Amino acid sequence: MLKSRRASLKSFFEEYSLKALLFTDLRNIRYLCGFSGSEGALLVSQDQAWFLCDSRYTAQAAEEVHGAEIRECAAIRIDTVAALAHEYGLERIGFEAAHTTVSAFRRLSEKLSGCELVEIGSKLDEIRICKDHDEIEQLSAVATLASQALTSILADIKPGVREVDIAVALEFEMRRRGADGRAFDFIVASGERGAMPHGRASSKVIRSGELVTIDFGALKDGYHSDETVTVACGKPEIRALEIHSIVKSAHDLAMEAVRPGISCRDLDEVARSYIRNKGYGEYFGHGLGHGVGLEIHEMPTLSPRSTAVLEEGMVITVEPGIYIPGFGGVRIEDTVAVTGDGCRVLTSADKQLLIL
Ligand code: ZN
Ligand code: ZN
Repeated sequence: MLKSRRASLKSFFEEYSLKALLFTDLRNIRYLCGFSGSEGALLVSQDQAWFLCDSRYTAQAAEEVHGAEIRECAAIRIDTVAALAHEYGLERIGFEAAHTTVSAFRRLSEKLSGCELVEIGSKLDEIRICKDHDEIEQLSAVATLASQALTSILADIKPGVREVDIAVALEFEMRRRGADGRAFDFIVASGERGAMPHGRASSKVIRSGELVTIDFGALKDGYHSDETVTVACGKPEIRALEIHSIVKSAHDLAMEAVRPGISCRDLDEVARSYIRNKGYGEYFGHGLGHGVGLEIHEMPTLSPRSTAVLEEGMVITVEPGIYIPGFGGVRIEDTVAVTGDGCRVLTSADKQLLIL
């Protein structure tokens, strides 16, 4: 499996005439060699690979790392990279410009003075854009866990409860069910706060008749889930019902349109044009969705400016919303895996308007 992931690097060696690639982004390192710790580097040449870490991680690396020789670095990791470059004649090394700070780059240039450093932008992250079978199973498992956790705490959503209480109960339930943690700070936005697409759970008390938008996800073995439901706490206003039904239809239409070959821009437009035709176009300000994997937000991006085209194996969210300042908002989000002829929905909490 890691072998086929490494094979995707071949095009970079050719395109940039490289002798090696240096990875410092932990998601890419995990993807390419299995290491799940919080510090390390991976140097990959055409036929060899070295995983570099300090003594805190040597035992963990010995357990987790596959297909790379483990080099414990006593002091400065870059010194070890420089020594390897010298030993193996790696005079042209590509690096992840998108994940390298200016000061790290300066240090690297200093230590690797005999070597040409080639800046590769976020293109290196594209190696993770299509998920393999194992990844889709992991993403499916974490999504199921999170959806079930949400379903099990729905009864806690009632007038008088604070948004933060919902967030805490949900995270507890996820951990109890085996999650390593939450995928991000949950959004629990009730009433007027629902107009903020990223309204983090606050100490606001939920009142009867309010809509509550809950955007949540779990993290397990490095993989994230992402899902949003908007529920009503008691009988909602007519306008809230109307908005929910428009967002739900836009969501359903976009879900039906997911298939290999459709451009991310066209998919975004499926939901956007529906919302626009209903008169709420100006209240849907963000893109339709994003990729999900070892990062909560990764490629591709689904928006009017997106240039990507969906391919089998991509795992994306579909999350239209309407946000009206002074009134509130609705978002409905599912995560799906693109299949040969459509998609497999990984998240499973009920998307009908639940009136609790
Ligand atoms: Zn979300
Ligand atoms: Zn999302």
